[in-house]
This record gives sequence, C-alpha cells and structure tokens, in this order.
Amino acid sequence: MAADDVDDLNCRNASRLLSLACERPLTADEVRALKHHLDECLMCTNFEQQLSFLHKASKVFRTGPTES
Ligand SMILES: [Zn+2]
Repeated sequence: MAADDVDDLNCRNASRLLSLACERPLTADEVRALKHHLDECLMCTNFEQQLSFLHKASKVFRTGPTES
C-alpha cells in the first residue's frame, strides 16, 4: 500500500486495518491514517470500539493457561 493511499482511507480500508490490528501491530503510517479517518467517521469509530472489545476478550483467552 502506497503512502498516498493510506492518507486517503475509505471506510472499507479503515475497517480492514482495524481487523488487521487484531493480528499484528499496525505501522506508523497505518495508525496515522486510521486515526485521521476515525476523527471524521462515526461509523468506523463505533466499529473500532466493538473490535477493541473483541480484541481485549481474545487477549484474555491468549494469556490463559493454555497458551500455544
Ligand atoms: Zn469510515
């Protein structure tokens, strides 16, 4: 993904980055673009809040005694 694309996130790319953030740390460019989009987009902000809840829940699972 080119830097220009990242600066102009649409909702589809934003939600993809949000999902990706659950699997790996985002790059600085990705985080910057995502925050920029979330500032303007209530829908993705709501989605982010749902995902961070899921992310926290899955983290609890991973830090359990059966870590693989
Ligand atoms: Zn959006």
